[in-house]
Amino acid sequence: MSPMAVDGSLERLRREGRIVVVGASLAGLRAAETLREEGFTGTLTMIGDEPYEPYDRPPLSKQVLLGRVPADHTALPRSRAIEAQWRLGAAATGLDPSAKRVALADGTSVEYDRLLIATGVRSRPWPNELEAGLDGVFVLRTRDDATRLRHRLKAGPSRVLVIGAGFTGSEIASVCRERDLPVTVAERGPAPLSGALGSVIGDVAAELQHQHGVDLRCGVMVTGLEGDGVGRLRRAHFSDGGTVDAEVAVVALGATRNTEWLAGSGLAAGPRGIACDAGCRAFDVRGIVADDVFVAGDVARSPHPLFGYRFLSLEHWGNAVAQAEVAAHNMICRAEERRPHLWTPYFWSAQFGVNIKSVGVPNMADQIIVSQGSLGEHRFTAAYGYQGRVIAAVTFDQAKWLEFYQRQIEQAAPFPPPFATVDRRTEGMRPVPAGFPDPSVPTHGPQVTVSGYSPTDQRVTFTPAGHGRQA
Ligand SMILES: Cc1cc2nc3c(=O)[nH]c(=O)nc-3n(C[C@H](O)[C@H](O)[C@H](O)COP(=O)(O)OP(=O)(O)OC[C@H]3O[C@@H](n4cnc5c(N)ncnc54)[C@H](O)[C@@H]3O)c2cc1C
Repeated sequence: MSPMAVDGSLERLRREGRIVVVGASLAGLRAAETLREEGFTGTLTMIGDEPYEPYDRPPLSKQVLLGRVPADHTALPRSRAIEAQWRLGAAATGLDPSAKRVALADGTSVEYDRLLIATGVRSRPWPNELEAGLDGVFVLRTRDDATRLRHRLKAGPSRVLVIGAGFTGSEIASVCRERDLPVTVAERGPAPLSGALGSVIGDVAAELQHQHGVDLRCGVMVTGLEGDGVGRLRRAHFSDGGTVDAEVAVVALGATRNTEWLAGSGLAAGPRGIACDAGCRAFDVRGIVADDVFVAGDVARSPHPLFGYRFLSLEHWGNAVAQAEVAAHNMICRAEERRPHLWTPYFWSAQFGVNIKSVGVPNMADQIIVSQGSLGEHRFTAAYGYQGRVIAAVTFDQAKWLEFYQRQIEQAAPFPPPFATVDRRTEGMRPVPAGFPDPSVPTHGPQVTVSGYSPTDQRVTFTPAGHGRQA
């Protein structure tokens, strides 16, 4: 039995402890519901920098932009009452783990016995601040972003430029075409979605965009946004010397983890997220787990046993829910009752009339095989292989097979799949390279340096990005 169980402190925590959740969105809400579900009757404080109670983000780039659902009708459904003290519109600005205190922007602070960090990510802004400030330049992460962009799309701009053809950028381009708006998509990589799904599937995504009338430009970067005399966007310049005239530009260059407020806290929090163990306990910069600080959702990086204990940072709705439930359980249970977060990554997207789903970690793969259907028909299932085992699968309008492939991944089934599948075509007889960018090219500078030699005087120092040496 753990010492906590013996001295009754766990029972006290469950009965009258103070739990603080920073980040009042999907992961934060699901954690709060789980805490109450599992019998936590103490004080629960929800701190969120947005003024709204938790809402759902996936509809923002789909139904909301299409005008089918108002942005303020996206509140997340509640599975139960959570009886929390809500501190909305209040950003957490600092964490003192030894005093167990979270500082807020309004100068107040909140003390905790257990803390859950679920601060998610934000859109990476256009890097040139002046250009980012032009009227007509948007990002899409929040309800307010979606309201503003929807309003502008409704006004019928002469052309929309989408910068970045990942999932969000591609979904926005799809909405524009559905609204019959001319749209140009600029993507640095060889094809849309190629960073997430590789260039074999990326080529199919490119075909879809062409078919739907998107002016798709791959292998180019937008080098500048130009305004008119009154500060409205009018033109974009490309790295190949080309230009395009557009009244709206949506910057869809991926996300940045909301970890800056943790600077100086001693936690292993940086641009790639907050490292935590599979039980959601945060690591400090030395790589030692904290017992009272937990992490869940998009901001977390945690090792997954199925994928070689690789630290995964997932921006997936289902991951935020599953990890929040595990974190909440582990926050108030005995050590021997802790659960690992073993969720198999799963993601969906809807664009250009196609329902795309993926399971596993495609970008770990070196090979891909079309195991069912046909790329040419844009209706298929492709399995990804890594070192001779199935590591992921993606379906285009064939979601019914996904569960089967999930089990293949979970059972480390051999790749290429030896089983006979229905609807297998000749193109699926041979695996081909999956076409991911070279993983040996670093995308982040060093964050941590180690000094000292003996175990007693070794020190780990955290160096925030941009302040230290870069690789
Ligand atoms: C447009 C869009 C479309 C998407 N579509 C899909 C999809 O089709 N399928 C899918 O699987 N996933 C999709 N996602 C991803 C999914 O929405 C996320 O995985 C999910 O929202 C993660 O939840 P979270 O609670 O971890 O983080 P978030 O939802 O990012 O919430 C974090 C919250 O913490 C707040 N916060 C940040 N810093 C602080 C601070 N210092 N103090 C207080 N509060 C703070 C943030 O403002 C935010 O409210 C989409 C996301 C977006 C933006």
